[in-house]
Amino acid sequence: MPAMNMTAPTSRHDADVLIIGAGPAGLALACALADAGMSVLLLEQAAHASLAEPADDGREIAMTHRARRVMEALGLWQRLPQADIAPLREARVIDGGGPSMLRFEPEAGGDAPLGWLVPNHRIRRAALRAASSRPAVRLLCEARVSALSVVTDRASVRLDDGREFSAPLLVAADSRLSQSRRLAGIGAAMHDFGRSVVVGPIAHERDHQGIAWECFRYGNTLALLPMSGRHCSAVVTVPGNQATEWLALSDNEFAARIAQQAEGRLGAVQAAGPRQHYPLVGVYAHRFAAPRFALIGDAAVGMHPVTAHGWNFGLYGVEVLARELRTAHAAGRDLGALPALQAYEREHRRTTLPVYLGTNALVSLFSDERALPKRTRQLLLTVAERVPPFSALIKSAIRRQLTGASHAAPLAGGRA
Ligand SMILES: Cc1cc2nc3c(=O)[nH]c(=O)nc-3n(C[C@H](O)[C@H](O)[C@H](O)COP(=O)(O)OP(=O)(O)OC[C@H]3O[C@@H](n4cnc5c(N)ncnc54)[C@H](O)[C@@H]3O)c2cc1C
Repeated sequence: MPAMNMTAPTSRHDADVLIIGAGPAGLALACALADAGMSVLLLEQAAHASLAEPADDGREIAMTHRARRVMEALGLWQRLPQADIAPLREARVIDGGGPSMLRFEPEAGGDAPLGWLVPNHRIRRAALRAASSRPAVRLLCEARVSALSVVTDRASVRLDDGREFSAPLLVAADSRLSQSRRLAGIGAAMHDFGRSVVVGPIAHERDHQGIAWECFRYGNTLALLPMSGRHCSAVVTVPGNQATEWLALSDNEFAARIAQQAEGRLGAVQAAGPRQHYPLVGVYAHRFAAPRFALIGDAAVGMHPVTAHGWNFGLYGVEVLARELRTAHAAGRDLGALPALQAYEREHRRTTLPVYLGTNALVSLFSDERALPKRTRQLLLTVAERVPPFSALIKSAIRRQLTGASHAAPLAGGRA
């Protein structure tokens, strides 16, 4: 464990930083701040048992190289079961019934994968354990925040049961429909795609070779995400009113639909677990920072999952906010003062906004089944796969996004 430059909270405060929400983003930030010598109080509405052994929520999270480095530096990666980490060796995109296929492979000559896929419940479990191993992090469960206030020298929250806590800085990590964001008077742009994803694990006959498929069919979209062994996560995007029908299918009916849409790529297919569904709503907060208040994780940027960036962005935000607060703390400055929070906001916005807008535009184009958008989709894939120099430029830009190579340096230091 690195040496800690712990500052005891003043008697007026319960911690240096209060974090609302012990999801993966809140827990990761708590680890990073504790390593920088700050004390943290995490307030979480759920019961401790549901955090300690979270149920499998069907999300397979694709992570970039930068995300992995941040997780390693915080000791989260080391807590993931190795058997649950699946390398992503290639990504392929196909459209409708057309012949075009777009492939993303690692750089020529490199044998590092594009990224890794890990079940979300494993990440959440690892994040809780990593945070619990830091004496400077205190976690209060069954603590639902229902009011907050900011005065000159502190931010305070009140729980449903009337208890109150305060700190120089309050960070909201309470999901894309963040109530704290609203209570702080910060609005958000919301994009309701009118669609849902239905996710379910499948077992299959042929080796997936670490290839992720994104099949933009007409009627629905199917993504096949490689998991450990001969398993994939099937992610079906459907109009919102069809989600119930997909959930009600028998295992055999679900497997038959997936096998048919996978066009034999995986051989025989069987359902391998329960299905879950998520309504698709993209969210981008108008601001990530205000006096004594900051937003991270999905509360700041809630992405459509098709470009696999939500948790990656959560980690990038943790990295940048922790870096700014570490500097402020080391210099003895007020942690709730705006300059450090605004520096975080500027950098995180620069990283996330183009991808957020690009993802929404891509989803709109690839789910529009009128004749012109269909032709545009085909054209786009053909140019991106086959027309030099555009092909090389587009692939390199997307590969850099997939691996996280286009962003800043990771948190310093590692942690076992
Ligand atoms: C189907 C699907 C696939 C995905 N795939 C990927 C992927 O491939 N790659 C990727 O990077 N990301 C992916 N994501 C996104 C990723 O799952 C999220 O970005 C990430 O889990 C968000 O973490 P968070 O901590 O910000 O929020 P959450 O996990 O939502 O945690 C918020 C926490 O705040 C608590 N809370 C809420 N309100 C209060 C309150 N008032 N008081 C106290 N506590 C409160 C909640 O109980 C919860 O524990 C995917 C998402 C989905 C739905």
